[in-house]
This record gives sequence, structure tokens and C-alpha cells, in this order.
Amino acid sequence: MADTALMQIPGNTDPVTVPRDITPRGDGRIDLLGLPKLRIAELFVGAGLDTKAAKLRGKQVYHWIYHRGVTDFDNMTDIAKTMRPWLAERFVIGRPDILLAQHSEDGTRKWLLRTDDGHEFEMVFIPDEARGTLCVSSQVGCTLNCRFCHTGTMRLVRNLTPGEIVGQVMLARDALGEWPTGTMAGFGDVSFGDEDDSDDDDDLGGYTSNGRLLTNIVMMGMGEPLYNFDNVRDALKLVMDHEGLALSRRRITLSTSGVVPMMVRAGEEIGVNLAVSLHAVTKEVRDEIVPINRKYGLEELLQACADYPKASNARRITFEYVMLKDKNDSDDDARELVRLIKHYRLPAKVNLIPFNPWPGAIYECSAPDRIRRFSEIIFESGISAPIRTPRGRDIDAACGQLKTAAQKMGRAELDRLADEKQAALG
Ligand code: SAH
Ligand code: SF4
Repeated sequence: MADTALMQIPGNTDPVTVPRDITPRGDGRIDLLGLPKLRIAELFVGAGLDTKAAKLRGKQVYHWIYHRGVTDFDNMTDIAKTMRPWLAERFVIGRPDILLAQHSEDGTRKWLLRTDDGHEFEMVFIPDEARGTLCVSSQVGCTLNCRFCHTGTMRLVRNLTPGEIVGQVMLARDALGEWPTGTMAGFGDVSFGDEDDSDDDDDLGGYTSNGRLLTNIVMMGMGEPLYNFDNVRDALKLVMDHEGLALSRRRITLSTSGVVPMMVRAGEEIGVNLAVSLHAVTKEVRDEIVPINRKYGLEELLQACADYPKASNARRITFEYVMLKDKNDSDDDARELVRLIKHYRLPAKVNLIPFNPWPGAIYECSAPDRIRRFSEIIFESGISAPIRTPRGRDIDAACGQLKTAAQKMGRAELDRLADEKQAALG
């Protein structure tokens, strides 16, 4: 079970992630979800296998967990029948608990999830014609207090573990019925311990997936991923590993509010696409709506974007810009945004996000005409600035909103829903 202690709200220092060693669950078994291949093999050695057997079993089990989505050792058909109970006595392959699963009229799906130690977090799946995007959370709550963001009103409870982060992708694949099927031919050729970071999208070895509903991942759920760097990196490595979930790094985007010191490391150690929650172009406004700006100012942030190792014209940085009425939506703001992007020579595109109001929010969304004009000014300068269509509003599918809606329901009702869900899953 993970540590439930409340994290410190950062003052002048950034929070440091303390690596957690593996804590056995209440029943003494160890959850393998979120562990890399080598760590699984080490645990097998610790449980009594010799090194060679542990390596082989580690490789097999890893493959079943991440590539095939299997949660029951009994279904690991290339592992000797006598070995399977030995594994099941010592280990489990978990998933975050599903507390609520909602389906919007527009196809958006949203899940409220619960960690082993009872903390709630969310993930959202947004399908459109070209792709299916899963919006993944990195923390329960957030230390930053962006004024327009509902998650920002919650305190940070704790970082999600790699298992809880990768577990979201795995749950989505479970729900969408998307695990590869087919024969295991060729699996034996894969070398052990090899962290494959190939960019090849579609090579799934000898397998075929049932569909390709989930094609993209965005780290844009609850929390600031760069304040949970190690766990986000370790989880995304499992997602990108060719022998794991095998999703290309080109299809993964990490969104940050601007944790400047971690941006280079994100590029070097994770290497996914970068999105930056800019939302304002002057110090005054950004200090107000994205308070981390008081610590890492606009110039520093834009310079870090210019230095981001993976950015290029083919892989542009996305600037997210939430449209707030009379706050950041003037023609001058749009022109200043263009000037800044050009000044720093950034390969960039801009995503204009209509503000999604929540009870108690002090802002309003800009009028549609205003958003359109803002977008035109940016487009006229040669920079792409599409207006994002709000999705899943009927199910509160915006950052941090489902959790709050659920809190209003009361404990008993939620527990009942969770029980029903478990029963439905068998
Ligand atoms: N902490 C990271 C990632 C999570 S927030 C970050 O800030 O980038 C993901 C995105 O959702 C951010 O761009 C954020 O600005 C946006 N967002 C948050 N609340 C919103 C709201 N009420 N309406 C529209 N967009 C919102
Ligand atoms: Fe945290 Fe991102 Fe919300 Fe800001 S916008 S409070 S950084 S989740």
C-alpha cells in the first residue's frame, strides 16, 4: 500500500520525490503493476528463484502484464502450470479501483478511480475521428493553484505511483477491449533488459490488437507531472516500451504549467511531446492565473521551451491557452503571443481552450466571437491555433470536476457504486 502522508506544499523549494520501495499489500503479496522487467526479476530472485530462472520468468510475466493485459497468472500459458500458483501466492497484478465510470453523449468516457489507500483520481478518454486520446492523472490533487483550474482548489494528497499511472492506461485498454490477441510466436527472440524506445508505431510483433481506439496519451489529468517526475517517467517508459504497452513517444504528450528546471530532463529522459500551459503573455496576468509564474517567469519558461531537446517543426510544442473573458483574451494578447513565439523561434502551435466553468470559479469563458478573433490573429501570423471543442460536459469531464461531483454523492453511495462495478467486472 502506498504512503498516505500529506505532501508538503512547496514554498521556495520544489518538492522532491522520494523513491518508495515496494510495500507489500495487506495480504503480504506484492503488486507487480508499474514495475520494470529487471525489478520483477529481482523480486523473483528475492522469492527464491535462481538468477537465470528469475530472468526468464521476469521476461515472461512482464510481457503478459504490459503487452497482453493479463492480470491472472493462470492465464500465462507459457509458464508451467506448477509455477503459476507459486507466483499467485506471492504476487498480484493490480489495477486502480473503478469508483465510477461515465459515458458522455459525445463518446467521451470518464472514470473516477481509487488508489489502494482510498484516494480518488480521474482519467478521461476522448475519441474523435482521427484518434482516441486518454487523459491521464499524475497526482491526487495538485500543489499549484492555477486560479481557473478546479484541481488547483484541492490540496495535493500525494503523487501517484508508476503503477497507478500506467494502471490508468491499462484500465482504459481493459475497458476498450484493446489488448493484442494472437500467437506468441517470436516472443522468445526479444532480448532481456533491453529498453526499446523505438519510434515505430505499429509493430506489435506477431499480435493484432482488437482495435485502435486508444492511440494517444496526454498527461493532462489531475496534477503537475513534472512535480512527480520519477514516477511519470518510469510509467511512461512502460507505456513506450516495445515489449510493454508499445505506444510511440510521438503519441504521448506531457503537459506542464511550467516547472522550468525539470523541462530539459523531461525531454532527455522521457522524450515525449511537450505541452505548456501558458494561458497568459504578461507577467501580471500569468502571475495571477498560473502562480508558478512567480517562481519561473515567462522569459525563463519560453527559453526552456526553446531548449526542449525534442522540439522541432515536426514535433512542435503546444501552448495551451484557456480563454478567460476580459482577462487574457484581447487582440493585444494574441499579438503578444505571436511575438513571443517568434522571438524565441519556437516550433509551436497554440491550443485555445474555452474555459470550462465550475461552481465557485471567478472567471467566465470568453465569448465565441472573441475566441474566433483571437484564433484568427494567431493563424494570420502563420501559427496554428485551433479552438478546442469542449468535450464531455454532460459528465463533468474537465480537470478535477468528476472527483468533486462524486464527493457530493456521499461515501455510502460511492461504495455501493464501487461494489456494483466490481460485481459487473466479475
Ligand atoms: N498540471 C499540468 C497538467 C494538468 S492541467 C498543466 O497545468 O499543464 C491540463 C490542462 O487543463 C491545462 O492546460 C489546464 O490549464 C487545463 N484546464 C484546467 N482547468 C480548466 C478549466 N476549468 N477549463 C479549461 N481548461 C482547464
Ligand atoms: Fe495543477 Fe495544472 Fe491545475 Fe495548474 S492547471 S492547478 S498545474 S493541474
